[in-house]
Amino acid sequence: MSNTNSDQNTATAQHHTETRAAHAGRHPDDTHGAVNVPVYHASTITFPTVAALKEKNGRKFDDVYYGRYGTPTTRAFDEAVADLEGGRWCVSVGSGMAAVSCTLMALLKAGDHLLMVDSVYWPTRNFCDTLLKNMGVRTTYYDPLIGAGIRDLIEPETRLVFTESPGSLTFETQDVRAIAEAAHAAGALVALDNTWASPVLFRPFENGVDLSIQAATKYIVGHSDAMLGTITMTDRALFERVKTVAGQVGHAVGADEAYLGLRGLRTLPTRLRQHGESGVAVARWLQGRPEVERVLHPALPEDPGHALWKRDFTGACGLFGVRLKKGPSPEAIAALLDGMRLFSMGFSWGGFESLILDTTASISRSATAWTHDGPVLRLHVGLEHPDDLIADLEAGFARMAAADGR
Ligand SMILES: *Cc1c(COP(=O)(O)O)cnc(C)c1O
Repeated sequence: MSNTNSDQNTATAQHHTETRAAHAGRHPDDTHGAVNVPVYHASTITFPTVAALKEKNGRKFDDVYYGRYGTPTTRAFDEAVADLEGGRWCVSVGSGMAAVSCTLMALLKAGDHLLMVDSVYWPTRNFCDTLLKNMGVRTTYYDPLIGAGIRDLIEPETRLVFTESPGSLTFETQDVRAIAEAAHAAGALVALDNTWASPVLFRPFENGVDLSIQAATKYIVGHSDAMLGTITMTDRALFERVKTVAGQVGHAVGADEAYLGLRGLRTLPTRLRQHGESGVAVARWLQGRPEVERVLHPALPEDPGHALWKRDFTGACGLFGVRLKKGPSPEAIAALLDGMRLFSMGFSWGGFESLILDTTASISRSATAWTHDGPVLRLHVGLEHPDDLIADLEAGFARMAAADGR
């Protein structure tokens, strides 16, 4: 390529994450110079000749030949995610859960054994316990803090070790590097649900991960308005396996969703910095409250996962948990939550707005025990000013106390 300004996808490994987020996946020569890739609404792609059709060689993009397998818009999104996450290949699908299930189906068959982290996102656990089990795949759950000890659980049929760090709802930090070393020594692959870190706070491939999954619905989209999932890899053969299964199962990403994913990705590192900073401010304030037993946030020095988090992560997002001391009645917790003015209640997270949820009943364990018997809240700290969020929480604690007549 000549040395002109014709291809803006010129950020390289030497550039900072913010720079790469701004430039990844952009090819203005292909888009009449427009900064953003257009939204290609396409199922049918036409071919100029019989020979081109046989080769599945379309007009300009030689691997775009039918909407289900991608359009120029989804290709730009895949390329940008792969770049930011430090991988080479990315398969995008319609949701984070589709990325999880597609990964498991691509890598496991009847007779295989899967090691799954006990603190995993509950729908992933449910997939393993139902559909994957029906396909003849055995799952063993393991302690998220197991580290190199995972080697004792690896069986001859173990093909995959699945990690998620920090864990959903309970936020244990995993030693992904030690787990990957043990898994690779035994010939097993390692997948990571990297949604908490998004593609910018943890480098999966430098820590031994083979496949990194994102619920792009969360921070990549970042505005609570689209569902997307991604699977990123460095290995071409692995990519072919995942891509083939995505096509067989019929995953397809809509052009509008891919566009919203790209839109979100441009500002991802900048947004995350604020989510992280405000999240720590709110977490510290909570840690000092008499109602709080412990805040589950690896960026706090008193968190048991802090040393690992410091070693492996470049920052925190805005999502963390809060264990309240035992005592408040369910009515008092409802009074706390129902009266919130800035925090809303809702599933999902990663948008610009703050969320709060009572997750007490949702924590599910089989390999380890969850011993805390007080209420557990999950907070997503959005882009509001943290002082306003703290005032909202302070009023909530007052309502909680009043409801129990304290
Ligand atoms: C939300 C989430 C998912 C699933 O993503 P969807 O887009 O909602 O299907 C998977 N893993 C983690 C850690 C999540 O938080």
